Amino acid sequence: MTDKTSSPTPATDFIRNIIREDLASGKHQRIVTRFPPEPNGHLHIGHAKSIQLNFGIANEFDGNCFMRFDDTNPLKEDEEYVEGILQDVHWMGYEWGEYLSYASDYFEELYEFAEELIKKGKAYVESLNAEEIRELRGTLTEPGKNSPFRDRSIEENLKLFREMRAGKFSDGAHVLRAKIDMAAANINLRDPVLYRIRKVPHQRTADQWCIYPLYDFTHGLSDAMEGVTHSLCTLEFEDHRPLYDWILAEVSAPCLPRQIEFSPLNLRYTVLSKRRLIQLVEEGHVNGWDDPRMLTLSGIRRRGYPASAVRLFCERIGISKSENNIDMSVLEDCAREELDKIAPRAMAVLRPLKVVITNYPEDKTEEFEPARHPKNPAMGSRKVPFSREIYIDHDDFREDPPPNYFRLAPGKEVRLRFAYVIRCDEVIYDTEGKVNELRCTYDQATRSGAKAEGRKVKGIIHWVSTKHCVPVEVRLYDRLFAKPLPGSDDPEGNFLKDLNLNSVETINSCQVEPGLEEAQPAEVFQFERVGYFCVDSKESRPDTLVFNRTVTLRDTWAKLEQEQTRQS
Ligand code: ATP
Ligand code: MG
Repeated sequence: MTDKTSSPTPATDFIRNIIREDLASGKHQRIVTRFPPEPNGHLHIGHAKSIQLNFGIANEFDGNCFMRFDDTNPLKEDEEYVEGILQDVHWMGYEWGEYLSYASDYFEELYEFAEELIKKGKAYVESLNAEEIRELRGTLTEPGKNSPFRDRSIEENLKLFREMRAGKFSDGAHVLRAKIDMAAANINLRDPVLYRIRKVPHQRTADQWCIYPLYDFTHGLSDAMEGVTHSLCTLEFEDHRPLYDWILAEVSAPCLPRQIEFSPLNLRYTVLSKRRLIQLVEEGHVNGWDDPRMLTLSGIRRRGYPASAVRLFCERIGISKSENNIDMSVLEDCAREELDKIAPRAMAVLRPLKVVITNYPEDKTEEFEPARHPKNPAMGSRKVPFSREIYIDHDDFREDPPPNYFRLAPGKEVRLRFAYVIRCDEVIYDTEGKVNELRCTYDQATRSGAKAEGRKVKGIIHWVSTKHCVPVEVRLYDRLFAKPLPGSDDPEGNFLKDLNLNSVETINSCQVEPGLEEAQPAEVFQFERVGYFCVDSKESRPDTLVFNRTVTLRDTWAKLEQEQTRQS
């Protein structure tokens, strides 16, 4: 891993405890894990949990983790996903070095293992179709029935399986099944299908194969071939473990990896299954996999989350077997914590309201030089020009202020951050009677940092100089879904009806302090009093930067205001 700084204390959970025991007892000298995505979609925040667990353990125990693509279904898989997945894992801060593999690398070995099962009388060629197989499978309460093809001779099975490989049959004509027990209580053990015919070229092996192994057959054997010691997967595979163990026991597997299940991450107000994410993309409910509202790793990255925030999140939610539905605020808090450390500060006015400071000389410009980061002097300072006309945010002015309103109001005073105290003398309206401009006067004796900062003013607001500011577009994001568990109350599981139709608000006329026009794609800032923002890496135009709001601020402003009043 390139950066271990976010993990000062070693994580402890039931999986790491098992690993410590296995090392202590000498069962294993070296730990090997793997992260095995199927390249049929891009990774989401749930995968981050698995990445952090598998790569994290390999790093902590000085073992290694295979980055393995589980690419056994050419119908749904794509090279584009492979590249995206590698980019995402790399972004998370993990390196696979020489341990990059593909299940398709093992197609020949897997085929040999299948023949081995046939030769032992532990697998047979089934000639019923999918529907007939399903009918004989039984139910949770009723045992299944043996197929009429179950007792084919080893010779016939071998001949048919070789002919399947040679392309003699069309899709669906036969499958290879394990011969276990049609009456097993665990349905996964009722002669599961191991191979099927698919006359579809594969993205890596082209038309070399027309039979493809299924997940359960492929997974454990790939683990064994890579010397995986602990095969960590989500709880839905718990019922597959007996099959995982059966396959490894029946063939001459090079080693016996141990499958251990943990609970998958579920996040409220979003969906995390690739099938649903694909639907959101394909039906145009979002603008692609990396839409900043998507909880894909590419979406989160584009939204402005640093990888360290995702790692912190995974650390915080931990690993266990219990069902969970994590609140989005846990993830957002992690973003705030990490961004607070690294994001330079800037002033940005989202909804500009012009203020003319009538007693300030017309041709004068002053430059203030605040720190880029209040807690990190190494980040240096920036220059913020001030002049007679400025913009403040519409939200920082009220004509009829409630009690305890410390921002600007007619006849009231407020401090302009880094600058002076101004008083609002006059409100100018447009033809529709809306507030259009404020006329204010400033008090020269109240210059920030000067010895006599003057009287105490409770409110501090941000601003930009109209002559110097830079127009930008800002996108304020909200949750993609309006319900915590999208689709959960619908018999058909229709989750689209729960989409939040106001999940993005675009504001075109924002103004930011000069200097930000140099900002680079993906650069993050804290817009003071507003939130954390990042330059959109896709849609920023040469003449207009687009900023994505990563996350709002916690109310740290109140504290800052107190501090400043105390100092003055
Ligand atoms: P999805 O269920 O979202 O469609 P998947 O499980 O089909 O995803 P895979 O490509 O098979 O996606 O996943 C790769 C690895 O990531 C697997 O080991 C899987 O257990 C793990 N994983 C997937 N979703 C989650 C999750 N929500 N939380 C933790 N780990 C997950
Ligand atoms: Mg899966």
